[in-house]
Amino acid sequence: MKKCFCGANKPFSGCCGPIIKGLTADSAEKLMRSRYSAYVTHAIDYLIETTHASKRAGLVRKEIEEWAKTNVWQQLEIVSASEFRVEFKAYFKDRKGKNQVHHEQSMFVYDNAVWYYLEGEFPGEP
Ligand SMILES: [Zn+2]
Repeated sequence: MKKCFCGANKPFSGCCGPIIKGLTADSAEKLMRSRYSAYVTHAIDYLIETTHASKRAGLVRKEIEEWAKTNVWQQLEIVSASEFRVEFKAYFKDRKGKNQVHHEQSMFVYDNAVWYYLEGEFPGEP
């Protein structure tokens, strides 16, 4: 069996796939995992829709699409997760084929019974 892109020990079709297709994620961590899988599968609309409305105006679709498509996503590592915060490392190869790590602490909000990505902090950055 092939694991889901997010690293969970179940297939994409039984993990992040249905969430990206419209099934609501029932925790911040699941939303985070599905957003990683959305980068892998270039589900750009999903990435925009799952960003909280208060932050959506700052998104540039083309930039998200470029970031998703120029990098080759290798692996997701959840460093820690609590109810509203998920720290993770996303491993990828950049356009030059160089190994990179995107390390982020993401904040999520639960608004009207739906989880949304709010914003990220980047540990290790000044
Ligand atoms: Zn998954």
